[in-house]
Amino acid sequence: MLKNVILFLILSLGIFSSGCVSIYNPATGRNELYFIDEKTEISIGNNVAARIIEDNEIVQDKSLQFYIENIGNKLKKVSDRTNLEYKFYIVDDDQLNAFAVPGGHVFLNKGLIDTATKDELAFVMAHEIGHICARHSVKKMQTALGLNFLLSVALRDPNYQAVNKTINLVYNVVALGYSRKDELLADSLGVKYSKKAGFNPEASFSLLEKLKKEEGNANYTLVFLRSHPLPDERIKNIQKTLNNETVSKLNSP
Ligand SMILES: [Zn+2]
Repeated sequence: MLKNVILFLILSLGIFSSGCVSIYNPATGRNELYFIDEKTEISIGNNVAARIIEDNEIVQDKSLQFYIENIGNKLKKVSDRTNLEYKFYIVDDDQLNAFAVPGGHVFLNKGLIDTATKDELAFVMAHEIGHICARHSVKKMQTALGLNFLLSVALRDPNYQAVNKTINLVYNVVALGYSRKDELLADSLGVKYSKKAGFNPEASFSLLEKLKKEEGNANYTLVFLRSHPLPDERIKNIQKTLNNETVSKLNSP
C-alpha cells in the first residue's frame, strides 16, 4: 500500500525524468530494472571517488599514469559501456589491490602495478571495468536504499539525505567488496574484455596464483581477494569462460 502511495507521488510529481526503466544490460545478458539512472550513478560515483582521493595518497607519476591509461583505454573501447568517461588512478599502497567506483573510476594500488605483468594488470582492470558495466554497485544501492531513496526524492528531502546515505553505502561496497556471484561475473567479463583488447586472458591464472601467495601473508587484507570467492573457484570459472568462448568462436560462421 505504502509503496503504491509513493509510486503515485513519484509519478504525479514527475520527479524522475526517466523513472524506473528496464534496460538490457549486455554485460549480464539480462533485462534489468533501474531507478538510479546513469546520470545519478555518475554523480554518486564522482562523490565517492573524490572521497577516496581525499583519504588516500594518489601517485602522480606521468609515465606510470600513461602506462595504465593506455591499457585502460583499450579495455574501455571493447567494454559494454563505451559511453562512460573512465578514469584510472594509482593509489600509493603496497598491497595487491584494485577497486572500481560506479560511473567509471578505477583505482589500482601501486603494489599491484609493480608486481603484475601488463597482461595480468589488463585482466584486473578489465575485471574492475566489468563491475562497472554490470552495474554491481548500482544494484547494491537500489537494494539497500529502495524505498528510502524514493521517499526522500519524492518528498524533496532538503538535505537529500538519501544521496549522502548512498555515498556511504558505495564507499562501503568499495571497501568490503561484492558478492561471490558478482565477482565470478566480473572475472568472466575481465577475461572477455582483456582478450578482445588484445591482451592474453590466460594471464588471469598467473595473477590469481600471485594473489593466492599474498593471501598467505597474514599482514595483508586484500579486498580484491578477501571478499572474492576462493582463487581455485575463480580459476575454474575463468577456464569455463575461455572454453565457452572457444566453442562459440568455432560455431560462428
Ligand atoms: Zn571484484
